[in-house]
Amino acid sequence: MAASYWLEERAEPLRTHRHDRAVDVAVVGGGVTGLSCALTLAEGGKRVRVYEARTIASGASGRSGGFALRGGAMPYDQARERLGTERAAGLWRLTERTLDRMESLAGDALRRVGSLRLAADEVEGAELAAEYEALRTDRFAAEWIDQPGGRLAERYSGALLHPRDGSLQPARWIRRLATATADAGVEIREHERVTALEELHADAVVVASDGYPSGLGALDELVQPMRGQVVATEPLPERLYGRPHYARHGFDYWQQLPDGRLVVGGRRDVDLERESTSEEGTTPEVQAALEGLIRELVGRQPAITHRWSGIFGLSPDDLPLVGPVPRREGLWVARGYSGHGNVLGLACGELVAKAILGDREPELKLFDPARF
Ligand SMILES: Cc1cc2nc3c(=O)[nH]c(=O)nc-3n(C[C@H](O)[C@H](O)[C@H](O)COP(=O)(O)OP(=O)(O)OC[C@H]3O[C@@H](n4cnc5c(N)ncnc54)[C@H](O)[C@@H]3O)c2cc1C
Repeated sequence: MAASYWLEERAEPLRTHRHDRAVDVAVVGGGVTGLSCALTLAEGGKRVRVYEARTIASGASGRSGGFALRGGAMPYDQARERLGTERAAGLWRLTERTLDRMESLAGDALRRVGSLRLAADEVEGAELAAEYEALRTDRFAAEWIDQPGGRLAERYSGALLHPRDGSLQPARWIRRLATATADAGVEIREHERVTALEELHADAVVVASDGYPSGLGALDELVQPMRGQVVATEPLPERLYGRPHYARHGFDYWQQLPDGRLVVGGRRDVDLERESTSEEGTTPEVQAALEGLIRELVGRQPAITHRWSGIFGLSPDDLPLVGPVPRREGLWVARGYSGHGNVLGLACGELVAKAILGDREPELKLFDPARF
């Protein structure tokens, strides 16, 4: 299966620790969540081993569209209605703090250029306006754009700018996080799929596999795997889009990279049934739809140089599942970000680690798997 454009970037070999047999905590999954969790645990004095079935960043964390967004999978005004203002604002503030932490760890793998959410029709325009009002009422930074300019003008009637969001080179970011994690004393084992928890010789186990079925009884039945397909074009001579853009409730998303390439993803709504899968792979239907979107965005058909897919996990209520697994002593999960896990994954890995270290942050309550 084709790997992502991001993963083609040359990687320094990872210099990792070796622990003797038993560790305090074993972490399953070498993406943003698992590494974040392992790093905080090691900083708290725990002996930690990370197991990754393939290589670091080979899951969704190295295959995403590269958007670093605050908030959760639901818009802010809906989060307020469902969770109450205090808890919704707490969740948004958590992700804003996490974006700042990401910036301090990621170096040039993160650019804080903001993100733009576009209204493709009147209904979406009204939804975005309601979200904007709620954000402003609760004093979050947000800007409303009545008429997006350039090539957007013909297609979109309004836009919500989140000024402190960012654009990631995801593979570079996750490899950097892995280096920091290894430097903190964590053993990272790549190409090791865990098939039974008893193999792990650890007091606690954290499963951080988001949409990839872990096969370990770690709430796999609650997390619906969903495939996302992405393409990258040749570098374009014209500079069209200065920040990540998304529209149609996230079914269309794109960003132009500093070298001019356009990375475009989404359109899974042309074949939702077939995209509800944990199998990586691209399909002619979704790829053709993405090519159509590129033609609309550029005004011609540039060459496509990369095509890939990844799997993310939908939770039943759009909030991730983070915390101890009920009736399974010592087993923890952090997964199910519903397509919004680049920043939330960093936050939730840290939340679980802190809880294992004895410090339960209030946000953890929101994500408690026991709610199901
Ligand atoms: C195409 C696509 C676009 C996306 N775009 C965005 C975006 O722009 N913004 C955003 O916020 N989010 C986005 N997401 C979601 C986001 O990428 C994920 O939610 C996030 O990366 C999850 O990170 P993770 O570390 O929890 O899981 P992953 O990065 O998926 O890592 C899980 C790892 O667990 C490993 N694993 C599973 N089972 C086992 C086992 N038994 N033993 C050993 N290893 C195992 C897998 O190999 C995998 O590497 C996107 C996802 C996809 C697929």
